[in-house]
Amino acid sequence: MFYFTTALICLNGHILAYDVDELEHKDSFCSQCGAPTISTCPSCGAPIKGCYVDELKISTRMSPCEPLHCHQCGKPFPWMQAELDEIEALIAMSDDLTSEEKNQLHTLFPNLFTETPHTVSSAITAARLLTKLSPLLKDALKASVGDKIVANALKFLGW
Ligand SMILES: [Zn+2]
Ligand SMILES: [Zn+2]
Repeated sequence: MFYFTTALICLNGHILAYDVDELEHKDSFCSQCGAPTISTCPSCGAPIKGCYVDELKISTRMSPCEPLHCHQCGKPFPWMQAELDEIEALIAMSDDLTSEEKNQLHTLFPNLFTETPHTVSSAITAARLLTKLSPLLKDALKASVGDKIVANALKFLGW
């Protein structure tokens, strides 16, 4: 038998607890950033997975980092959506990209956050489009989402 615990995570993606049921008091706000906390998906209400617990082996495995998408409805969690919004805002500031190119970048970036069959091609296409961005905006993008992008994509982005 195995089950998943339910995590408590703030809207900015800080993990406050891997198992809310063990908490005596569930914090309503994050102690690091002050954002409200959630333990269920705001879109569909599914509990956010914390640890994988194997009852026979009595082992617990923690997720290495906060989940990016809901396992039930597939929607990005608020912290992932915030990253996507940030990317959109930065790309929108560019005067050097056509609106078609901006739209293309918006659809490419989600493939850079997790390993998918399209991660490498998305990174290469994104790298080509990003050469048109001003150095300031490119640095801003790197600074805001660079640490969230998977290694394989970083390599081909040339970051
Ligand atoms: Zn927080
Ligand atoms: Zn959901």
